[in-house]
Amino acid sequence: MIGKLSKSQELLNRRKESVANGVGIFNNATVKDAKGAIIIDADGRELIDFAGGIGVVNAGHCPEPVVAAIREQAGKYLHTSFNVVTYEPYIELCEELAEILPHGEKTKVMLVSTGAEAVENAIKIARQATKRPAVICYTGAYHGRTMMAMTLTSKISYKYDCGPFAPEVYRLPFPNVYRYKGSRGEATFVKEELKRLHESALNLVDVKNVAAIILEPIQGEGGFNAIPQKYLEGLRAFCDEHGIMLIMDEVQSGFCRTGHWASWQHYGIQPDISTYAKSMGSGLPIAAVVGRAEVMDAAASGSIGGTYIGSPVCCAAALATIKYMKKINLNQKAKVLGTDIKRRLKNLKKVCPEIGDVRGIGAMIAIEFVKNNDPSQPDADLCSKIVEGCSENGLILLSAGTHKNIIRILSPLVITQQHLDKGMTILENEIKKATKK
Ligand code: PMP
Repeated sequence: MIGKLSKSQELLNRRKESVANGVGIFNNATVKDAKGAIIIDADGRELIDFAGGIGVVNAGHCPEPVVAAIREQAGKYLHTSFNVVTYEPYIELCEELAEILPHGEKTKVMLVSTGAEAVENAIKIARQATKRPAVICYTGAYHGRTMMAMTLTSKISYKYDCGPFAPEVYRLPFPNVYRYKGSRGEATFVKEELKRLHESALNLVDVKNVAAIILEPIQGEGGFNAIPQKYLEGLRAFCDEHGIMLIMDEVQSGFCRTGHWASWQHYGIQPDISTYAKSMGSGLPIAAVVGRAEVMDAAASGSIGGTYIGSPVCCAAALATIKYMKKINLNQKAKVLGTDIKRRLKNLKKVCPEIGDVRGIGAMIAIEFVKNNDPSQPDADLCSKIVEGCSENGLILLSAGTHKNIIRILSPLVITQQHLDKGMTILENEIKKATKK
C-alpha cells in the first residue's frame, strides 16, 4: 500500500506537471514560512538556509522593518510608473545609494528590477558615454540571462541553443589565482595576466572601439574568485589610459555580503559604473545602476527605463533594508561571521586534502573540491554528494563554478550562533562522510 504523500512531495509532483523544462531545482525543498536563516518546509521541517535565495537575503528572511515598510507602502499606492508620475521612495533610494556607493565627484543612480536588467543598462550607458561599441568580459563571469547579459556570461552550458549572441563582446581569462597560478608566485602570475590584458589591445580588439570592461570583483557563480588587488589596480589604469568605462557587477557580492556595501570598497578602487540587485530589496525585485554623474547623464532620454522600474513597494523595501542593515551593523556582522566560517573550514582542510581551497571575502566563502590536491582536477561528483547529503540533513546549500566542484556559502548574515553551528556541523560531517574521514 502506498502511504499518503507528504505536502512537500505533492508540491514537487505538481511542479513536474506544470513547470517548464529547463527550470532547475535545488535541494527538493518547498517552503511554507521563512524567518532569519530558517526555512520551514510544507511538512513543517526546519531547514537551515546557507543559500540565502542565491544571495538575496543577506538581512535574513522577512526582516520585520522591511515587511512593515512594504505593508505601509502597499497601503498608499502601488504604481504610477516613475516616468509618468514621480514619487519620493524612488528619489530617496537613489539619494541613499549615491551616498553609500560614491562614484567620483558626483554620483547618479537609475533603478530597474533585476540584476540582468542592471547589467544591460550599464552596458548601454557605457556605450552612449563613449560612443564605442565593444565590451570586454571575463571567463567564469555570470551577468544574467537577458541577451546581452547572457552573452557576457561565460558558462556555455547556460547558453545552449540561445544564440546568436550580442556582437562586439570579447572575453579575457579571469585571473583565477587558485586555479592557474601553478608554481609561479601570485605576484608573477598577476604580472603575466596584466601583460595579457595589455596585449588584448593588440590582438583581441582595437581599444579605441572598447566602451567598457565588465567584471565581478569577486565572481559569484564562477566560484567566489576574488580579483587580485594588483590586477584591479592595473585594470583601472588600463581603462583610464584608453578612455574605457570600468563596470563592476556587484549583484551577488553587494549589500554587506563581503563586509562592505560593495566588494570594490575593499580595494579602494572605484568603478565608473556598478550594478546591484539581490539583497538590496530583501527579496523584492529591485536593482540599481550606479555611476559617475557625467557618465550616467550620457543616457539619452527614452533609451533607459521601463514600466516597472523602481516600483514604489520595491523602493520602500530597499530603503528599509538599507536602514536595517545600518542599524544592526550588518557589514561588521559579515566580517565576524566570515572569519568564523573560514576558521572552521580551514581546520577541516588540514585533515581533508580533497578540499583544495577555502577562500572568499567577508562572509562570501567558498570551498573548492579537487582530486589529488590538484587545482586542475575539479571533483564535481564529490561536491554534489556533499550538497545532497547536507540537503537530506536539513541544510540548504548551492554549488558553483564552471565545473560545479565548489560549494558557496551565502547564509543570511543575521544567522544565530546556534543555527550557524548546527549548519556548519552538518556540512563538516557530510564532507567527512563523503571523503571517508
Ligand atoms: N550578475 C551577477 C554577478 C549575478 O550573480 C546575477 C545573478 N546570479 C546576475 C547578474 C543576474 O541577476 P538576476 O538573476 O537578478 O537577473
